Amino acid sequence: MKRIMFFAAIICSAVYSQAQHNVPKSDIDKKVDALLAKMNIDEKIGQMTQVTLDVVLQTANGKATEPTQIDAGKIKEALEKYHVGSILNISGAAYTREHWYKIISDIQNAAAQTRLKIPVLYGIDAMHGQNYVQGSTLFPQEIGMAATFNPELAKRAGAITAYETRASYIPWDFSPVLDLGRNPLWPRIYETFGEDPYLAKTMGASVIYGYQGNNVSSKYNVAACMKHYLGYSFPLDGKDRTPAWIPDRYMREYFLPSFRAAVNAGAMSVMVNSSEINGVPVHSSHYLLTDVLRGELGFKGVIVTDWMDIKYLNTRHHIAATQKDAVLIAINAGIDMSMVPLDYSFYTYLQELVKEGKVPVSRIDESVRRILKMKFKLGIFDRPVGNPDDYPKFGSAEFAAVSLKSAAESITLLKNTNNVLPLKKDIKILVTGPGANSMRALNGGWSYTWQGDVTNQFTTDKNTILKAIQQKTGKDNVEFEPGSDYNNPIDIDATVNAAKKSDVIVLCLGENSYAENPGNIDELDLPSAQTDLANALIATGKPVILVMTEGRPRIITAIESKCAATIMAYLPGNEGGSALADILFGDINPSGRLPYTYPRYANALVNYYRKNIENGNSDDAHGYNPLYEFGYGLSYTNFTYSNLKISQPTLKDGQTLTVTVDVKNTGNREGKESVLLYSREEYASITPDTKRLRAFDKINLKPGEMQTVTFKITSKDLAFVNDVSKPVTEAGEFKVMVGGLTQSFMYVTGLKPSRTGKL
Ligand code: BGC
Repeated sequence: MKRIMFFAAIICSAVYSQAQHNVPKSDIDKKVDALLAKMNIDEKIGQMTQVTLDVVLQTANGKATEPTQIDAGKIKEALEKYHVGSILNISGAAYTREHWYKIISDIQNAAAQTRLKIPVLYGIDAMHGQNYVQGSTLFPQEIGMAATFNPELAKRAGAITAYETRASYIPWDFSPVLDLGRNPLWPRIYETFGEDPYLAKTMGASVIYGYQGNNVSSKYNVAACMKHYLGYSFPLDGKDRTPAWIPDRYMREYFLPSFRAAVNAGAMSVMVNSSEINGVPVHSSHYLLTDVLRGELGFKGVIVTDWMDIKYLNTRHHIAATQKDAVLIAINAGIDMSMVPLDYSFYTYLQELVKEGKVPVSRIDESVRRILKMKFKLGIFDRPVGNPDDYPKFGSAEFAAVSLKSAAESITLLKNTNNVLPLKKDIKILVTGPGANSMRALNGGWSYTWQGDVTNQFTTDKNTILKAIQQKTGKDNVEFEPGSDYNNPIDIDATVNAAKKSDVIVLCLGENSYAENPGNIDELDLPSAQTDLANALIATGKPVILVMTEGRPRIITAIESKCAATIMAYLPGNEGGSALADILFGDINPSGRLPYTYPRYANALVNYYRKNIENGNSDDAHGYNPLYEFGYGLSYTNFTYSNLKISQPTLKDGQTLTVTVDVKNTGNREGKESVLLYSREEYASITPDTKRLRAFDKINLKPGEMQTVTFKITSKDLAFVNDVSKPVTEAGEFKVMVGGLTQSFMYVTGLKPSRTGKL
């Protein structure tokens, strides 16, 4: 009888839950249910456990053997004793595709020997291309992709990255980074799409469409992982993984939109911010992980921790007295999978917590269901490894051309006194500086290794800036002197002598590669070894073309003011040297725009959408005065804006305001122009932002050609988050600003702003 009651209860609850959702179960849901029903609790907890590759590699004297090899005993232990669901990363430097095939096959073959034969979900940081496989296509880092203002290009780059990630038999990419890059000190600025929420959300969603395509189970697509949810990029002291203080309103206004758009774009997974906000480590925040991410944003995919971050709740953040408490807190907050990643402690503690009744099996089932669903969706049950012959375009010229185009559209011309650029090809050029002959300088971190420190060894077939310039002009016209490295002079006298014999100096300064906390700095100023070199060269009186390759905007004000031209190359990837030379010599017309504010002073770090239009007091000589503003970038041609028109003088809810502007190429070269539309609200219940980017479009115009660019704006696009954390558009006057032109309209639905009224 008891049994009958039990089954009846199960059937009733199944029928009830079906009726509740009123949607038929998909085939995948049915498969997940069937598999889940066969799993014991240990197998379930194992699915939530992720370890790093080193854990299952053969070692000698405590180090992974070279070449790396899966250790048969260790993988058996991982998959049969601990039922591990996911493995990540790489040990050592980029593998060949063949080697990845061996590693992944060994893992999946071992998984096929387990009781339920559940394939392992392998994940990797393919951040600007599949940067952990030899011969892959490396694109500009995200900050450069943002500077293109070209979402279609970002999508295409994403699709190529997905292709090459699957070509290395990996279905899960820990990318894109959706953190807002707005504190220039932070060492991960280059991994972001810059400081603007609209740009970040537009580019982020495009990359996700590129990664996941229309059918993520296809052999050319991978699951995206939004990271690092939420507020990671705004540490008070600018250092990686240090505390942030972000009010809820502020969080929702600036940091949340890129994640919301990514959820809407279908991102299948998310990685959590390693740090803490307002004293609450995000891995412990039920509010952010469950209430906001699942409840408000409707995210249904897998939440994975970042590296070791459950352990850190105990050892770094001190909000859990024991490691086991840390697991309990994180699971209760909403974590699905723990990047443990060096041992099986998470598995053991969670097992104990379930046995003690502190974590209900239903909570485990929720997470395992999501993880299994992701595995089914990715098609890895049918195709755990993939077929090496399916990827003829891996590392192809076709893909390199997309990387070249991305670099060319990202590189941003900031200054061009007396049209010193483009250069003629028959002049004498000195190429100098630490970035001049280094592929490492062009790629930054997350390239071949985590820190990107052996890039030169893998890129001998690619052009450094020096090599690319030599190809344009012939070697005889080019002198090379390193001048200095990033922190120490090499031979300034020799460099000055070479400069004296040259017509022009291409000076390549910036930063060497780094990733995460090794990239922390204590001051934003460019190191003096580099500014000393610059000053010595400037003193020769020869025109200096300053080329910056750097992960974040280091302060260059004093030297930059004395250079004839300035080019921001960001970290333009493997084709960056060639793209830069194309721009220097005018074979390509630059069209990049700054995706962040370039600060003039290290202690004046203000984003473009700052509050307080008047710069503080009207007589304040120390107001907003960046070196270059967000969105700035020059071309070799001129674009003239006219006829900014709006479709109607008033806007109501449900209506669309059409904004048009005529853009004409009035110079004598073909060129691309990013047309940026900003809005500003004149009065609001909280201080309105000075201006905010609301739309953009990138167009190509031949000399003399004119195009009317059209934007559609609704009241929702103009909303801000008010002081009780609600998105609102308040009635009143708005301005739209495009290319120096302004139009006003009234938004007539909604509350009138008033601090005396109740919100
Ligand atoms: C980084 C993540 C990365 C993870 C796995 C962490 O240290 O913060 O961005 O995905 O390592 O490599």
